[in-house]
Amino acid sequence: MSDSVRTARAWQQRRFPDGMPVPEDFAEVELVLPSPKSGTALVENLWLSVDPYMRECMDGDWGLGTWLEGRSIGRVVESRAAGLPVGSLVFHRHGWRTHAIVTADEVRVLPQYEGIAPESFLGLLGGTGLTAYVALTRIARLRAGETVFISAAAGGVGTAAGRLARLLGAGRVVGSAGSAAKVRKLTEEFGFDAAFDYRAGPSVAAQLAQAAPDGIDVYLDNVGGEHLEAAIGAMREFGRIAWCGAIAQYNARSAPAAPRNLFDLVGKSIRLEGFLVAHHSDAQAELEDFLVPHLSAGRVPDSLSITDGFDRMVDAFLGMLRGENTGKSVVRLRPQS
Ligand code: NAP
Repeated sequence: MSDSVRTARAWQQRRFPDGMPVPEDFAEVELVLPSPKSGTALVENLWLSVDPYMRECMDGDWGLGTWLEGRSIGRVVESRAAGLPVGSLVFHRHGWRTHAIVTADEVRVLPQYEGIAPESFLGLLGGTGLTAYVALTRIARLRAGETVFISAAAGGVGTAAGRLARLLGAGRVVGSAGSAAKVRKLTEEFGFDAAFDYRAGPSVAAQLAQAAPDGIDVYLDNVGGEHLEAAIGAMREFGRIAWCGAIAQYNARSAPAAPRNLFDLVGKSIRLEGFLVAHHSDAQAELEDFLVPHLSAGRVPDSLSITDGFDRMVDAFLGMLRGENTGKSVVRLRPQS
């Protein structure tokens, strides 16, 4: 490693946000890295992930002025660790920085699949794709021919869920997103049968009733609040809700009023189940077995929303919270990687 990269860069949180975070809540700092000691390796990060859960971390899980956690893909550039040869591509969770010192049990050396880029391990083959896969197969137990509704459908989990629902044999796939342009993409590029802009129109419930006139069997909830209430209202008997996230409330200063129709779960024998993908890491191999042939053959493209440059990490994070991404939001540290 040359002296010039002994000094790495990192983002830290410097104050707690009040509602929607702002750039001033973060600071970019210099990070002096020691030489790797026995059992560790130095990784140069190539791709960093920005995710909605990080907004929740900002309220206290992340301390001020400390190193931030985040999913990352990097290359080992110096190593004193068995099993981590120089040059290997690894997945790890030392995000928000250009370089990290890691141990072998903190990283996954990425398998190399023909025709699949490493950054897919932040997209369809990463936590994002795994979340959608677990939601549909393990939580909602989607059956062929069923109607699926997906909120935040143009985002990372949403686009992955749309692709997977199709591959798993869903009958009708319906999505909601926050702009007319995203809605167009959902039906023209991402294989959704119908989509609507939740910011337009009378209500989510009215728009969902139009997009799924015969009701829905499965709801993958990324949003919570009014979306969840509308989905419960549109759900057929014995429907299933995989509750994945509640981004409508992450920046809110007060708790959401909806859903007010929770008791309909009883009347329609609906199952609502929340889950954390972290509890389903054993599904990763199954996901790869299922998706790699489709990805390698180009039948299913990964959808990444790429921001270039480490200095734009906070822009990417705030932009994702505002809905500026289509597909999984990632930061590319080297434009050519
Ligand atoms: P994402 O969907 O790529 O990005 C977030 C999207 O949320 C934005 O693009 C924006 O799109 C939408 N959004 C923002 N504010 C909103 C609001 N008030 N109402 C409705 N939509 C809003 O992010 P992701 O990584 O794929 O995550 C999606 C959801 O899954 C999040 O709730 C996240 O917390 C959850 N998640 C859960 C797990 C788990 O283990 N349970 C794992 C991963 C992710 P629009 O333009 O459409 O508004």
